Amino acid sequence: MSGEPRSVVEIVESVHAGRRTALDTVRESLEAIRARDGGEDGIHAFLSVDAEGAEEAARAVDDAVASGRRGALAGVPVAVKDNICTLRLPTTCGSKMLEHFQSPYEATAVARLREAGAVVVGKTNLDEFAMGSSTESSAFGPTRNPHDLTRVAGGSSGGSAAAVAAGMVPAALGSETGGSVRQPAAYCGIVGIKPSYGRVSRYGLVAFASSLDQVGTFGRTVADAAALLEVISGPDPRDSTAANVPAPVLLPELENGIEGLVVGVPKEYFPPELDERIARLCRDAIERLREAGAVIRDVSLPHTRYAIPTYYVIAPAEASSNLARFDGVRYGMRAEGVDSTEAVYEATRSLGFGDEVKRRIMLGTYALSAGFHDQYYVRAQRVRALIARDFRRVFDDGVDVIFTPTTPSVAFGLGEKVDDPYQMYLADIFTVTANLAAIPALSLPIGTVDGLPAGGQLLADRWDEATMVRAAAALERALKE
Ligand code: GLN
Repeated sequence: MSGEPRSVVEIVESVHAGRRTALDTVRESLEAIRARDGGEDGIHAFLSVDAEGAEEAARAVDDAVASGRRGALAGVPVAVKDNICTLRLPTTCGSKMLEHFQSPYEATAVARLREAGAVVVGKTNLDEFAMGSSTESSAFGPTRNPHDLTRVAGGSSGGSAAAVAAGMVPAALGSETGGSVRQPAAYCGIVGIKPSYGRVSRYGLVAFASSLDQVGTFGRTVADAAALLEVISGPDPRDSTAANVPAPVLLPELENGIEGLVVGVPKEYFPPELDERIARLCRDAIERLREAGAVIRDVSLPHTRYAIPTYYVIAPAEASSNLARFDGVRYGMRAEGVDSTEAVYEATRSLGFGDEVKRRIMLGTYALSAGFHDQYYVRAQRVRALIARDFRRVFDDGVDVIFTPTTPSVAFGLGEKVDDPYQMYLADIFTVTANLAAIPALSLPIGTVDGLPAGGQLLADRWDEATMVRAAAALERALKE
């Protein structure tokens, strides 16, 4: 591919204007995947690529545009995290359990992308069942960070983030339960959005922790990630948790600037463990926001320090229940050579799941078990309510958006944390709160530390994605100046 990879916004404009075809655009993307993704030194962002299907779909988009149907994402090649169901490629969840699983239906988010003229080129790597922060728990090998192939891309949506960062696709879908879009976006130097809980249908997103899971979007700019979010948002009769609120109008917000908005800066997100160089980049970003006309206010979210323990009770508890369905009977693999039903369950789950998934199932089953349920699960739910109330108070007090670092450090080395789950969980310290509080959050690049990208996070009140992307676009412009 020559020059800078094209943005979603540019592609749509030029396809609408007839200056380029969807087919050429998709071919360019497939070519970039061939050049950078495979082999020993490849990034390994993709688990499967559908060249034939993508070209066919692109031709259909070109025909539609020629006959006057100009979809909001006409001709945009997209990658889809492999825990989101598609009709044409397998949906493996990065697990041996579902290695050959072919979904009989398509996720609502994917269907909406296709209806808008986007073309799915492939499915991306992830931590097994989205459990992880580095994409190293994938049963099919890790994804590498395009900025430094010896480092992780983050996770669990590491494949989608790396594919976008490497210019293989302009945008992608990921999923979030506790930071899995924002954390890899920060590590890979791109924009990632986790919408409000209930903003995007979960139909066809393989369940991890149902009270936290949301589909999110990646792009190299705020506009690109927002363009996808606009299309996939809104109620869905197939998912009762997709709230009955209209899809937000985001793109016109991007030019509105930040003048007069109140930006809260919570002291709990600048702890001593935060890499001093990331702290400095955050202070610079806050200064830029002030220069652009924002009112900066110190705020406090006092229950932040309970977020990791709360999340790591609730998410595994829900996961232990959701993953009970993978037992060799209905979905995916079935262990051979065992005779009783019990033995099929046991052997299939022993062989099919990797260590991290087993760890979560055991933790979650324990937290839900008779005698411990009150001490762990119920108590975690109460603390979750306190964390949500912290945000409620700040927003009720007139704060429009909150600014924090996305992660406490930049991308770590491959293999560095695999044997220390607790250290791995700490990579989520600034991101799990938004999932617990059901509010929208976004990560955008704010600079580099030794050549590795660092992310800044913006959070807004529930359903206020519009103000969040408006502030993010203003910061993105201010950082470019
Ligand atoms: N790293 C977190 C976890 O392992 C987040 C996962 C996610 O958001 N899917 O649970």
